[in-house]
Amino acid sequence: MKDSGGQTRRTKPNPADPKQKALGLSEKEPATKKTLQPSSSEAIRKKSVGAKSEKSVPSPKSERFGPKRTDPVGPKGPKGLKDLKDLKDQKALKGQKNQKNQKDQKGQKGVLSVDEILNFLDELYPEPRCGLDFADPFQLLTATILSAQCTDKRVNLVTPALFAAFPDPKALSEAKGEDIENLIKTCGLYKAKAANLAKTAKLLMERHDGRVPADLSALVSLPGVGRKTANVVLGDAFGIPGITVDTHLGRVSRRMGLTERTDPVGAEKDLMEIIPQESWTRFSHQMISHGRAICSARRPDCPGCGLEGCPGRERL
Ligand code: SF4
Repeated sequence: MKDSGGQTRRTKPNPADPKQKALGLSEKEPATKKTLQPSSSEAIRKKSVGAKSEKSVPSPKSERFGPKRTDPVGPKGPKGLKDLKDLKDQKALKGQKNQKNQKDQKGQKGVLSVDEILNFLDELYPEPRCGLDFADPFQLLTATILSAQCTDKRVNLVTPALFAAFPDPKALSEAKGEDIENLIKTCGLYKAKAANLAKTAKLLMERHDGRVPADLSALVSLPGVGRKTANVVLGDAFGIPGITVDTHLGRVSRRMGLTERTDPVGAEKDLMEIIPQESWTRFSHQMISHGRAICSARRPDCPGCGLEGCPGRERL
């Protein structure tokens, strides 16, 4: 094709132009456009589908969950593994409960019943009382803190002068450490006890308006006050039943077969389960008295004790 200047002009291929189509100009594809051969296209499609199928097609169940279980505790069994374990636990618990019910009647060894022991203690100690002298909850708390690793008798010798000098938490909270120490020196561990008394008095002023709280958790948060001291205060100053597991009560309880535990908290739990709640404080005083008077640590007087059938008698 020539332009207006007579120059030959190269016609651009246009596939839509019927003239060009007639002259065969539109049949040639642009050099940049690469025609895919059916074979390579198929290969890409297959590769793509193949890659997809590798990802999306789920693996056999045996690969995901392992070999199919044949026992009844498998995923499709009537009970899952956890359920079966729960069932076993429940059965074990039921067995323990039954055992405990028997203990209610017979104590841990099944030789003496709790009633037999309580009756025995009532006969021997008809009027049990706290061995410490006190006139109010603050005095009992103070005396009980002093009684750690010390006899009640010794504490009772010391406290009259102490209570005269510091009659309430306010006076004790303002006292000089050495003044308290001088008054309690003969009780042993007097420096630590004096510090605990002063801190406890301050906390009673800060937290409880200068009063002793009738609450176990509030009491055990005070310095020098553990569960044993707290239970003494609750039982004897407020009439709230508590079991005071000291060295005597723990030992005698084990000998009588009421518990096997040597830790005070564990023994307290065991005893709380089998001793009627209304008897806790009374039982504590009776057992402590019995441990001091007859069932001592080194030489228990089993022949003179009178508790027939006591398992501790056979062991000693
Ligand atoms: S019989 Fe012996 S071991 Fe048992 S309570 Fe009496 S003194 Fe203790």
